[in-house]
Parts: sequence; C-alpha cells; structure tokens
Amino acid sequence: MNFRFTEAQQEIIDPVRKFVDEEVWPRAREYDLRGEFPWPQWKRLAEMGYLGLPLPEEHGGRGTDHVTYIGVVEELGRGSAALALSYAIHIALVSETILRFGSEEQIGRYVPALARGEKMGAFALTEPGAGTDAAAQKTRALRDGDYYVLNGEKCFITGGALADVFIVTAVTDPSAGSRGISAFIVEKGLPGFEVGEAFNKMGLRASVTNRLYFKDCRVPAENLLGQEGQGFKMAMAALDGGRIGIAAQAVGIARAALDLALDYAKRRQQFGKPLASFQAIQWMLAEMAAAVEAARLLTYRAAAAADEGVRFSREAAMAKLVASDTAVAVTRKAVQILGGYGYMVEYDVERLYRDAKITEIYEGTSEVQKMVIAASLLR
Ligand SMILES: Cc1cc2nc3c(=O)[nH]c(=O)nc-3n(C[C@H](O)[C@H](O)[C@H](O)COP(=O)(O)OP(=O)(O)OC[C@H]3O[C@@H](n4cnc5c(N)ncnc54)[C@H](O)[C@@H]3O)c2cc1C
Repeated sequence: MNFRFTEAQQEIIDPVRKFVDEEVWPRAREYDLRGEFPWPQWKRLAEMGYLGLPLPEEHGGRGTDHVTYIGVVEELGRGSAALALSYAIHIALVSETILRFGSEEQIGRYVPALARGEKMGAFALTEPGAGTDAAAQKTRALRDGDYYVLNGEKCFITGGALADVFIVTAVTDPSAGSRGISAFIVEKGLPGFEVGEAFNKMGLRASVTNRLYFKDCRVPAENLLGQEGQGFKMAMAALDGGRIGIAAQAVGIARAALDLALDYAKRRQQFGKPLASFQAIQWMLAEMAAAVEAARLLTYRAAAAADEGVRFSREAAMAKLVASDTAVAVTRKAVQILGGYGYMVEYDVERLYRDAKITEIYEGTSEVQKMVIAASLLR
C-alpha cells in the first residue's frame, strides 16, 4: 500500500493546485455572490488539457488513472465547489458513460469533443416526482420510426443552461419498471428540448441548476445509449463513479475550511492570547484534521478500487457518506472558530458551509449511501 501520490500523479495534480491558488480561490466569492458559473476557469481547464483527464488518449483524453483524476477534483473542490461539480459530472457521468456504453459512432462523435472541452456534458436523471426513487420517473420516450419522441420534465440538472450534450433517461416500456428505462444522448438546441429558469439555491450558487422540458422532442434513434431498457442500470453504474468525485469535492471543501480556521486561530487574539492557544479550539482543529484525513483515505481507496477494475459501489458509497458528513461537520466548526466573522461573507467559511451541505444530497443522499452499504453487507 502506498499513501502518497507517485511522481507522475503529482505532476498532473500540481498545476491544478497552482491554478486553484492563483485563479480559482481568489474569485470564488465573487462568482458565488453573482450566482455565475466561472466560465473563464472552465475554459482554462480545457486549455490545460484537464477535461478528459482519465479518458484514453485515442479518444482525446490523457489516460490517467482515477486516483489522479480524483486528486484534481479535490483541488478544484478546495477552490470552487461549483467548478469541481461540473468537472466531475462532465467526466464521470457523461464522458465515461458514453465511453463505456456508447457505440463506436457515439464515442467518436462525442467523447473527443467533450475531452477537449469543445462541448460540456450534463446528466439528467432526476424529475420533480422521482429523486431518490429514480425508477419512478415519468418522462416518456416513444419509438416512431427512426426517432424516439420524448415528453416530460427533468429537474435539478447541473449545467442545464450551459451544457451541449445531455444524457437523458426516459421510460420506453412503462410495464417493465426500472428495466423499462432507457438513456439517450440529447444535444442542446434540438427542437422540443427547452431549458428552464435556474433554481435559486442555498449554496453552490456559482453552479447553474435547471429544469429541462421535453415536448414532442424527436431524438434520432441512433442516439439511444446502449440497449433499450438498460438506462437505469447505466445511470446507477455512472453514479458509482460519480460518487467518488463528490467525495473528493467534499474533501476539498473541508480542507479549505480547515486551512482558513487554522490560519485565523493563530492570528486572532482574545484574552491577550491567540485563539489557537485555547484547548477548546485546539480540539476542534484536531477533530477537523483527523476527519479530513479519514475522508481522504476512503475517497482515494474508492478511486484505487475503480482503477483495479473491481466492483466499487460499496467503496464509493462509503467514501461519499463519510466525506460529505465530514465536509458539513468541518465547515460548521470552521464557522464556529471564526465566531461572528465566520458568519460574514468576507471570511469565506460561510460559503464553504453552504456549499458543503449539498454533498449530502446529490448523486444519492446519505440515506441512499447507507442503503447501498447495507445491501452490500447483507448480500
Ligand atoms: C444543486 C443540485 C444539483 C443536482 N444535480 C443533478 C444533476 O445534475 N442530475 C440529476 O439527475 N440530478 C441532480 N440533482 C438531484 C439530486 O440527485 C436529488 O435531489 C437527490 O437524488 C434527492 O432527490 P429528491 O431531491 O427528490 O429528494 P427525495 O427523494 O424526495 O428525498 C427526500 C428525503 O427523503 C429521504 N428518502 C427518500 N427515500 C427514502 C427511503 N426509501 N428511505 C430512507 N430515506 C429516504 C432522502 O434521503 C431525503 O433525505 C441535483 C440536486 C441539487 C439540489
């Protein structure tokens, strides 16, 4: 077992660390306050060659392992939770899913363009009436000659108003339950496909989250991903990989909060001494540091399992469960250590606290992660 990045892994992660320190973190507050996605930073990641990192070189990627990719998500999470989320969805939920289940033609048409950042990906599973119970979705896809006609609504879709390529699930056979759900690659601008207003969120305000509407939207039959009826299974497989990215995003958020709290505790004086000299503060810092490290270990262990090619649903669920819980607990303590200043926008920990909460909800709530873990224990 090796608990350090190799030189090759570090060489890929280091430029992102520098980019985060110099460009992402200093502007994260501004983007959050404006409720605006950091486009220039996304474009910079494309120029730096990071938008297809773990994809094979022949498809426009750099062929890295998932440990390296997760190292990059953690760094991005430290700088901007919004950027880290779009990055993880673009790669794990969209590009890797097309690569894994798509036809040669679909792979050739979409994956290199996604890897080079010419197109952005989004993943549309959730509906107003079907969140945790994703198999209860109602969006219909009816075969009509060389097309499927989609009707229905998706909600809470990250990057809905920004993306070019969407993986959309819809019911092709209502009598078959989750086995009657199929997945389609839908391109922006297709007639009958509309993006709704952005949601106004508690946190992650620099991420754009939309409803999607399908009204007699004719999707070419060649855009069916995999076989009819495999959509739910593919979505669940995609989420296994996606959850490691969310765990890394959560670790990044927690690390940022710990760094701010440490720095503040050393500088802020009360009773003629720095806060860091009080045992109550030291204990909070110690608990925060230990929790971040534990969450990191689970996250990288899940990424290593993904690289081994073994099934990693349990490892991914454990990593997401613990890392998201850690992000919420650590950011809450960071606000506490900064006291009243921690409640103020200028000190950044309030944003991290708001951003941390969502990691317990999307790509399967914490309750869902416990279901996955329990099912694997009781199998
Ligand atoms: C900012 C944001 C971005 C998102 N991005 C995307 C995206 O890009 N693509 C996408 O498809 N979706 C996305 N989602 C949707 C997200 O994955 C869902 O919100 C999540 O799966 C929960 O579904 P729900 O909100 O409908 O909650 P519900 O399913 O209604 O759950 C409500 C509560 O009940 C609990 N619960 C439900 N069923 C059970 C059960 N059987 N046992 C115990 N507890 C249960 C849940 O854990 C939760 O605590 C996003 C959501 C947000 C907020």
